[in-house]
Amino acid sequence: MKIHEYQAKQLLAKYGLSVPEGRVCTSVEEVVQAYKELGTPLQVVKAQIHAGGRGKGGGVILVRSQQEAREAAEKIMGMTLITHQTGPDGQLVRKLWIEQGSDIETEYYLGIAVDRETNCPVMMASSEGGMEIEAVAEATPEKILKAPLTADGKLDPADAQRLAEGMGIPANLVADAGKYFSGLGEVFCKEDASIAEINPLVTTKDGKVMALDAKVDFDSNAEFRHSEWAEMRDIHEEDPKELEASKFGLSYIALDGSIGCMVNGAGLAMSTMDVIQLYGGSPANFLDVGGGATVENVTAAFRIILSDPKVEGVLINIFGGIMKCDIIAEGVIGAVKQIELNVPLVVRLEGTNVEMGRKMLEESGLPIIPATDLDDAAQKICIAVKGA
Ligand code: GDP
Ligand code: MG
Repeated sequence: MKIHEYQAKQLLAKYGLSVPEGRVCTSVEEVVQAYKELGTPLQVVKAQIHAGGRGKGGGVILVRSQQEAREAAEKIMGMTLITHQTGPDGQLVRKLWIEQGSDIETEYYLGIAVDRETNCPVMMASSEGGMEIEAVAEATPEKILKAPLTADGKLDPADAQRLAEGMGIPANLVADAGKYFSGLGEVFCKEDASIAEINPLVTTKDGKVMALDAKVDFDSNAEFRHSEWAEMRDIHEEDPKELEASKFGLSYIALDGSIGCMVNGAGLAMSTMDVIQLYGGSPANFLDVGGGATVENVTAAFRIILSDPKVEGVLINIFGGIMKCDIIAEGVIGAVKQIELNVPLVVRLEGTNVEMGRKMLEESGLPIIPATDLDDAAQKICIAVKGA
């Protein structure tokens, strides 16, 4: 789950980490009022969207007067901001954050993610702050220093010093930077983040270490112990198809391809996407309908898959384990009858009562292309889509 920069900064502040003082606003007037309250001559007006790269896209403006604050707010509020992370359609700006401007000495990068090789969080630090870290990792990977954190987010003090010195923090601020690193480790673990990134972390001319930007993603698996996340959610920033799917308990992730997939079980869904790619197609989504594929959630899943204009064909790949194939066939038939299906549909069923299930699909009179195994199914849908 993603949150806005201002929410991430509020989290950092809760752990005693320095961030600029600011206000979140939903109108130009509020921005002007906030400029007066914040009081410093230099302030920064920032678009709040769930994507980075806002600066380059025109979504971050430094202002030096009330009039400039107003002009910046008028410019950014309601704009469709396109950055390298929003995709070509961009993202509508509905909220602004205005904060006291900082007199930057140097910009650095600091981030924590999960290292899947060591099964632990890893801290990454770099002198190359304010830039796209992916580009730094590509061109000059040696400029990204790493240190493992313990599973509960602790950083070895020797590692903290190595990172701070290695990234070029001035000697008199190494201890402060070290505190910032351990604080971020604590945020990462206690708040169940999957990513915590500060780009840029800065040192200021008056000798402070602080975060000018902040990105925190939460690990949705931990949702059950964070009732506060519900309020932090901004549904405007989420894919409407993913939102609708979550209402039906479906795990759906929108992708860029043209073949809609309906599968039960996350592992099988992943393999299905792989095999589609193997035969030259590309999946339009990941979708796990869960163990109990009822008529209701199969119908909902269909509707969501087909609401994506990129979908040119659908592949259903279901393994009937506890759920029997005849019940699944009933669900698929019921759903296809309810929904206007105008793209090819390939169905592969396997498992308990498979013969009965296949017979039902065959006798339904619906334009369903049956498949016997995963290779057969993927080949058939790829051919059907290309032929269309
Ligand atoms: P992003 O482009 O979405 O990553 O937005 P950031 O919050 O990182 O802002 C982009 C850039 O704006 C930063 O890298 C800084 O160079 C600049 N910036 C942001 N806040 C300040 C500030 O308070 N003072 C100054 N001088 N520059 C700032
Ligand atoms: Mg940034």
